[in-house]
Amino acid sequence: MSDERRAVVADLLERARYFATLTDIGLPTAARPAAADSSDASVPGRALQASDSPAQHRPPAGESHVQIRDDIGDCQRCKLSPSRKTIVFGQGSPNARLMFVGEAPGADEDEQGLAFVGKAGQLLTKIIEAIGMTREDVFIANVLKCRPPGNRNPEPDEIIQCQPFLERQIESIRPEVLVGLGKFGAHWLLKTAEPITRLRGRLGEYKGIKVMPTYHPAYLLRNPGAKKEVWEDMKVVRDLLAR
Ligand code: SF4
Repeated sequence: MSDERRAVVADLLERARYFATLTDIGLPTAARPAAADSSDASVPGRALQASDSPAQHRPPAGESHVQIRDDIGDCQRCKLSPSRKTIVFGQGSPNARLMFVGEAPGADEDEQGLAFVGKAGQLLTKIIEAIGMTREDVFIANVLKCRPPGNRNPEPDEIIQCQPFLERQIESIRPEVLVGLGKFGAHWLLKTAEPITRLRGRLGEYKGIKVMPTYHPAYLLRNPGAKKEVWEDMKVVRDLLAR
């Protein structure tokens, strides 16, 4: 068999393995959320101060997640605070080479205080495993740390207020690759408003870190046919990490 044929067969096998992992998407038994970052354990109260602004809670370089979590405190900086149950800081390895950025917590995440633990989170787990990693290897966070009521879209003022925390998390982790999940994750990282259908699969950059925009797992639950595009995107991510 020629090298070219061998490569095609290997690719087909790989695709088959990937799709095999996705057949039970959404079943609760698939969930394997990572342990919460130890920095999540305590939430010291911190009331909103009139002087608070994104620029004023900017970090010193190289700070730990404990410091960032302490700074978030019982955050009241935007209008989501009264309706949220839990601040979802994000979780995973503080030394992750790969970091995912989603949109905002949903109902399950708001209950449990962990990112991506609902059905979309279970699918994300499978996507991570399909490239030979585990949730413990990566870090998963959202543009917003509090659930918008009724899972509505994040609003610009909320994104602006919450932005410094995600900036600080990325600065602290310094991953090699960032994956922007869905429109909000991709737009936040790439500072663009291009539709995700045009953005996905095209590598960009955030402060010198490679960014792969792709579809949000919640979108894949509604549109399973788009899984093949996410697989193409994740293969690029896997290859970047293999270098
Ligand atoms: S979404 Fe962000 S800025 Fe708004 S209250 Fe929650 S942690 Fe604070």
